[in-house]
Amino acid sequence: MEGTAVQRRLTWQAATVTAAIQETPSVRTIELAVPDWPGHRAGQHLDVRLTAEDGYTAERSYSIASAPGEPVAITVERLEDGEVSPYLTEELRIGDQLELRGPVGGYFVWEAAVGGPLLLVAGGSGIVPLRAIIRERQRSGSDVAVCLLYSARTLADVIYRPELDSYGDSDGDRIVVSYTLTRAQPPGWTGYAGRVNAALLGEVAWPADKEPLAFVCGPTSFVETVAEGLVGLGYPPGRVKTERFGGTGGP
Ligand SMILES: Cc1cc2nc3c(=O)[nH]c(=O)nc-3n(C[C@H](O)[C@H](O)[C@H](O)COP(=O)(O)OP(=O)(O)OC[C@H]3O[C@@H](n4cnc5c(N)ncnc54)[C@H](O)[C@@H]3O)c2cc1C
Repeated sequence: MEGTAVQRRLTWQAATVTAAIQETPSVRTIELAVPDWPGHRAGQHLDVRLTAEDGYTAERSYSIASAPGEPVAITVERLEDGEVSPYLTEELRIGDQLELRGPVGGYFVWEAAVGGPLLLVAGGSGIVPLRAIIRERQRSGSDVAVCLLYSARTLADVIYRPELDSYGDSDGDRIVVSYTLTRAQPPGWTGYAGRVNAALLGEVAWPADKEPLAFVCGPTSFVETVAEGLVGLGYPPGRVKTERFGGTGGP
């Protein structure tokens, strides 16, 4: 039985696009029907493979945006000079097929038994697996306290904003959502401005003596800055889980 599930994870299979949701001008969520999906855990990713008519293939990893039990979904940000993301965000249509393999990863995962409190720090599309973690918290009925710090370029670039705001509104002070906008802030903006640094982490993050578990995700340089900052605040490195999306740009 287990052997079959492992085989399904490692084998490329055809998935059909069932929905496409425009999250921001450059970001799209793609829901997929995957007939042989073995199930996933919050925080895992999958691999997508595209094959051109001449047989050229390109593979990329995407975090799974949905909680376990929900339809498989990925959320893709278009990189202007990218090879794969412009196709996924602009050309792929409902009913189209693509190949995928997964779920992948057993380290950057959360389930209710893992507990908290949770510190979630996202840069840009790094919010994707953290959103799956919050959805899993809600789905499982966990009351673990969550502090989310999300760095985006502008307010228009914040992915899943209505959903994230609803968590803060509906769950009192058990889920605290903070945004920092790095490029521009709208008039009257009461959130944070500028890149995440040690000072901002010191203000927003749980103190280390609460023994929080941190999940940090985004562009590689963002993740490294945040992880160093948290260790500087006294977080044991083993309590800072990181997922690097590649690239050098920060949100
Ligand atoms: C485990 C994992 C999970 C990921 N999850 C997601 C996700 O949920 N959503 C998502 O949109 N992307 C995610 N990514 C990034 C994704 O795999 C691709 O790298 C991204 O879509 C760019 O692919 P591309 O073919 O369009 O660009 P490429 O043609 O591969 O690259 C174009 C240019 O952009 C730079 N670049 C590549 N990746 C990034 C990046 N992330 N940020 C800034 N610059 C970059 C490259 O250095 C290059 O200069 C994830 C990556 C990993 C490793």
